[in-house]
This record gives sequence, C-alpha cells and structure tokens, in this order.
Amino acid sequence: ACTAARPRVLLLCSPCMGHLIPFAELARRLVADHGLAATLLFASATSAPSEQYLAVAAAVPDAIDLVALPAPPPVAVLPPSAPTRERVELAVVSNVPRIREIARELGAAAPLVALVVDMVGVVARDVAAELGVPLYMFFTSPWMTLSLLLHLPEMDATRAGEHRDATEPIRLPGCVPIHAHDLPTSMLADRSSNTYAGFLSMAKDAARVDGILVNTFDELEPAVGEGLDGLQLQLPVHTVGPLVWTRPAGVDMDHRCMSWLDQQPRGSVVYVSFGSGGTLTWQQTAELALGLELSQCRFIWVVKRPHQSSTIGAFFGTQKGDEHIPLDFLPEGFMERTRGMGIVTQSWAPQTAILGHPSIGCFVTHCGWNSVLESVMNGVPMVAWPLYAEQNMNAAMMEVQVGVAVRAKVGADRFIRKEEVANGIRRAMVGEEAERLRKRSSELRGQSAHALSKDGCSTRVLAQIANTWKCASRK
Ligand code: UDP
Repeated sequence: ACTAARPRVLLLCSPCMGHLIPFAELARRLVADHGLAATLLFASATSAPSEQYLAVAAAVPDAIDLVALPAPPPVAVLPPSAPTRERVELAVVSNVPRIREIARELGAAAPLVALVVDMVGVVARDVAAELGVPLYMFFTSPWMTLSLLLHLPEMDATRAGEHRDATEPIRLPGCVPIHAHDLPTSMLADRSSNTYAGFLSMAKDAARVDGILVNTFDELEPAVGEGLDGLQLQLPVHTVGPLVWTRPAGVDMDHRCMSWLDQQPRGSVVYVSFGSGGTLTWQQTAELALGLELSQCRFIWVVKRPHQSSTIGAFFGTQKGDEHIPLDFLPEGFMERTRGMGIVTQSWAPQTAILGHPSIGCFVTHCGWNSVLESVMNGVPMVAWPLYAEQNMNAAMMEVQVGVAVRAKVGADRFIRKEEVANGIRRAMVGEEAERLRKRSSELRGQSAHALSKDGCSTRVLAQIANTWKCASRK
C-alpha cells in the first residue's frame, strides 16, 4: 500500500523471451532502487503461450505488476510462415487500444512518468504522446546493433545493390567492421522484400523516441553513442546494463544439472545452448553430438528438436510435453557412449545458475545478447555459434573486439563439421588461447559487476533517468 502513490513507469514488452527477461530486471531495479512503481505489459503472439514463457512470467518479482496482453484476435493472426518480426509486431499493434485503456486506469491512481518499449514496441508511440509522458526504448541488443539500425536509413538511401553483396564491410565508429555475411538476417533479405521493409521501418522508428537505454556497459562497448552527430541525431543514449537475471529464470534450482555439476572438476564442463528459440537441422544436431564426443570434454547440452528449414524453430516456445519427445535424432549409441560424461536436457535449463557454477569451462552459444551478457557476467569464455538476428555481429564483436570468444568454423555450405565443433571447444578449454580468453573474461566479469554496483556507472545512469522522470511528473 505504501507504494500506491509512487510515480509509475509503464513498460511494454513484445513476445520475445529475450526481451522479457531484461525488461523484468529493468523494472525490478526501477522499483527496488529508484523509488518508482512499475507495470510491465507483455504481449503474446499466440493464444497458448509456451510453457517457458509462462514459467518466466510467473518468476517475475512480485514488486512488478505484470499484465499479460491477449494474443491478436484470430482474424488478424498471421500464418506461421509469416516472418517472426511481423508476428511479434502484430502482437503489439493489435493491443494498442488495450494498452491505452490500461494506461488511463493506472494514470488515474498515480502519476505515470514514462512509457518504456522495446525495439518493436515503438509502434505504440502515440500512447506516450497522448499520456504526455516521454517514450523511452530499452534496447535489448548491443550498442553495435543499435548503431547499425540508426545508420540504416542513411545507408539505404545512399547504397546501391543488395546489402548481402557488398564487398566492403560496414564501418561504424568504434565497432568491428561488419562483413556482409555477418549482417542481421533481415538485412540479408532482398531490399524489395517485406522483411527488409519492416526492418528499415523499425530502424527509422528507433530514432523517434525521447531516449534509449541500452543493455550494455561502457567497458564492454566503449563506443556507445559515437557517430550520432554525423547522423544529426539529438538522441540521448544511456548504458544501463548488463541487466539479466542473476537467479535462474523460471526453473527449479534443484534441476538435475546442478547436482551433477557439483561433482565435476573445476572448469571442466562445456555448456551448450542456443537460447529460447534457436534450432539446428537434424544433420547439424547429430554432427554437434559427434563433435562433443570428439572433444572428450564433459558437457551439459540443452537440446531442441531439430528443425529443417528454420534456425528459430522454437522461437514461440515449446508446449508442455515436448520435453518428453524421443531423442531419436541423436546419433546411434550417443547417449550410452557419453553416459557419465554429459547431460542432455530438453527442458528449460537454469542457465544463469549453470554459467555461475565453478565447474563450467566454456559456453557454446548462439550469441543471443542475454546469453552473451550472462556469460560475461560469470567470466565464462564462449564458443560462438551464431544462428539468426544480430547474432553473427555479436559473435564477431566478442571474438575480435572483446576477446572472450572463439568462433566455430563454418563450412562453405553453412555446416559446422564435428572436427570444428571439437576444435572450437578445445581452443576455449585448453592451451594458451584458452588461458588468454579466461583472463580477459575474468577481467570483464569484474567490470560488469562494478557497472551494476551501488555507485557503478549503470546504476548511476538509471538513477539519473528515474529522477528526470519523477521531476518532470511533478511539474
Ligand atoms: N534461458 C534459460 N534456459 C534455457 C534457455 C534460455 O534460462 O534453457 C534464458 C537465458 O538465460 C537467457 C534467455 O533465456 O536469459 C535467452 O535470451 P538470449 O538473448 O540469449 O537468446 P534468445 O532466446 O532471445 O534467442
């Protein structure tokens, strides 16, 4: 009851697990440390949200008022073949009237001070204008991606030909050069396609906000904010990260992985996971299994049912019961041969607890930004195996610029052979290169903890923003 009159922030998160997790952490900090109340609206793309989604939502701290928005009405629903970004955007757009209603009700009880949206949610910007509050974007990918988005409208106007055919890399101030093959998936699409048009429109929207919070920190990306003058943008960009959950998201801590990890030697276990949505083909899944075997390292592998035509085959989650499907896609005899050496789990894993365990030696990751941040916060070197969205850029940044990852070598056919899986793991686990990675990772772990400490830069920035919001609402 004592928080009833606290100024309130309204946060709007599109149906992406990788956004919900950092949004909940941002909201938690605003409430716990900065004297605000927070309502977190989270959209749903399907009428039956996945089990993981519900579990993560249920684990959002009580101090945050979480409101689940309904899925788009059946008449509006896009076919499953529609691009993921379109389906995600529709889930937000179809809810704008409801968001308006909720905002009015909340505003009657306590002053609303800001609307915070993700990169998809900027389409709801009229709501902020009607309420007379500032619109902030919480960008849940790195600054490098944001910089690319902010530069895209200009590049689109001045470059000829398809972005994927460019022979010169894109050079953004302070960032590793971006080679054509590392561009975000939507930029590789034909420039005449809807996919590209949607991405470009999102890029233009990114500059139409009052401020941007980026889930990164200064030592990880020292160039944050550089190059905006050249674009004639007066856009305040603040680093508030790394904001991810330190306790596992929506899963029991007594997961069998944890007791098994307790029995393994320090730094000996490879953790393999491709995030909430990433999937491999049948052939690639089997090859990864053989690669793990070949590496002779202990492992925990969060395996997903293979998908032949999509690298985000599980983006909208798996339904209850999916974790009991047979593991018949693994090579014959794999489970027997690796018994005692590794754990294969199909359920949602307690990732942050696993990464924080001293037995973990490296993380084979798709480089989703939350996974990267969680690895960095725990000082765990990475073997980068990017799949979609901006993950190739994240991998390049972590390998070349930050120096905490090796990249699994991809063949001309986009296939990663078992020898290369094993080679990537060995490079990250043993020898001089591994030693260098560990040293740099541990340095970065200290810096990330400091950014979030009581007088760390991310905490101070968030305090300033919260103050600006509170003061503006009192006028
Ligand atoms: N995650 C988890 N258990 C799993 C898989 C994923 O807790 O079995 C969490 C992970 O810790 C991270 C998020 O889900 O916080 C995935 O976000 P990321 O940006 O890495 O990838 P995305 O799922 O968005 O591709």
